Formats: sequence, C-alpha cells, structure tokens
Amino acid sequence: MQKLNKEWHLKHPMPPKATFEQRVKWHLEHVQHCACRPIPAKLLEQMREKGIKLP
Ligand SMILES: [Zn+2]
Repeated sequence: MQKLNKEWHLKHPMPPKATFEQRVKWHLEHVQHCACRPIPAKLLEQMREKGIKLP
C-alpha cells in the first residue's frame, strides 16, 4: 500500500471544525486506509481518558 492514499483523502476530508468524536472517527478510518500519518498522541491520550478502545 502506498504511504499516502490520495483517493481516500479526497473522499474523506477532515471537517474544518471537527469535534472530538469526528476526529476520532476520521483517524480510526484513516489508519485503516492510509499510512501518511499516525493518530496524534494527544488524541490517543484523550481517547484513553474517555475509554475509547482502538480496534
Ligand atoms: Zn493519510
């Protein structure tokens, strides 16, 4: 798989004012389709605090 899945990104733009839930959802889908960047450590931390488990 290529590092940047351009097609996926074009189809799934991050909402400009994404909420926490939207960012989590976006990143969880993103890691499955693209490897251009990991889930930010800060977001992972917030997910842990809220008890959201990684698939
Ligand atoms: Zn990407």
